[in-house]
Amino acid sequence: MTDPAPHRAEIVVDLAAIRHNVRVLKDLVSVDRPVRLMTVVKADGYGHGMAEAAAAARAGGADWLGVATIDEALALRGAGDRGPLLCWLSAPGDDFAGAVAADVEVTAYSVAELDEIAAVGGARVQLKVDTGLSRGGAPRDAWAALFAAAVAHEAAGRVRVTGIWSHFAASDEPAHPANDQQEAAFREALALAGQAGLDPEVAHLANSAAALLRPSSHFDLVRCGIASYGLDPAPGASPRVGLRPAMSVRARLVMSKAIAAGDGVSYGHTWHAPEDTTVGVVPAGYGEGVPRAAGNTAAVWVDDSLRPIRGRVCMDQFVVDLHGELPPPGTEVVLFGPGDRGEPTAQDWAEATGTISYEIVTRLGGRLVRRYVDSDATEGTPR
Ligand SMILES: *Cc1c(COP(=O)(O)O)cnc(C)c1O
Repeated sequence: MTDPAPHRAEIVVDLAAIRHNVRVLKDLVSVDRPVRLMTVVKADGYGHGMAEAAAAARAGGADWLGVATIDEALALRGAGDRGPLLCWLSAPGDDFAGAVAADVEVTAYSVAELDEIAAVGGARVQLKVDTGLSRGGAPRDAWAALFAAAVAHEAAGRVRVTGIWSHFAASDEPAHPANDQQEAAFREALALAGQAGLDPEVAHLANSAAALLRPSSHFDLVRCGIASYGLDPAPGASPRVGLRPAMSVRARLVMSKAIAAGDGVSYGHTWHAPEDTTVGVVPAGYGEGVPRAAGNTAAVWVDDSLRPIRGRVCMDQFVVDLHGELPPPGTEVVLFGPGDRGEPTAQDWAEATGTISYEIVTRLGGRLVRRYVDSDATEGTPR
């Protein structure tokens, strides 16, 4: 991606990278036996654009798509997706009838939620059991009642129970004791469900980190979000499988100028130039989701060099140190990208700002223009 940025500030998403990552993940989990792959496209495809990410994922071989809310699922149907699709975060009164009419599978955490879903008639429903995250899902002492209610609704023809699933608390830390405990608890839940008379089509537990690091947790299906976008779910622990970051964020320099030793930069003068230098103004700020915490910590890529952010990130803009150079207005600034050219990555930004790459990519938006490229098509050969 060496074409000049046509916009003031933009997100560029490489759809070929998403297709590639989905293919890599599917091949990885299906080495010994076929395991189905769900690509998670919630939260606007982790900031990459839900409909576009979904289409790229399907093209890469995703058997399922996953989203949090019914609204997201219906938006995907509106965008033309017709494949298996699960959502998992509902509140009482949500549009379960709309979900059923759109052939979206919904998730029940409790008997009350299952009853509400069953009242619609004809739902394909999955049951979520809490195996130790202590977030959504039926707690252990409620499993038997949930399964019994599901058997009764299924016998009455009100629902079809298509899946049983759970979610890890610490799969990004492969040695964390919660992983073994949760996997054992999940096997107990599946056994209990079988004894109750349920025969779901899919059991699933693994997210991206577990897909990469914990084959014993793959069951029938893995749910991969972050890795589908080419970001590492478990930095320092994941095997290198050749994922390609799909998102780049770029801007065009607004101005560059000289400042003198001792000058304070940006609000509050949290940085003073230790010597004469030059600075550049980058037209993106926390209004675009650039973390304010990046002030004085993160760096961007200008003219083939890392340029540290100086002073605070403002709502619309921030200042970088150009170390004596004066690139003209319009010069490309790469906030982050795949890292191929030496530019920072979303992971670098996460480390600089004390968060995870998930938050870096998902929070970006605001006035940023999102543009799609296909590196397989535009560059001829996959990298
Ligand atoms: C977001 C989410 C995922 C995807 O997690 P990654 O770590 O991004 O792979 C999987 N399952 C559930 C229930 C989720 O909420």
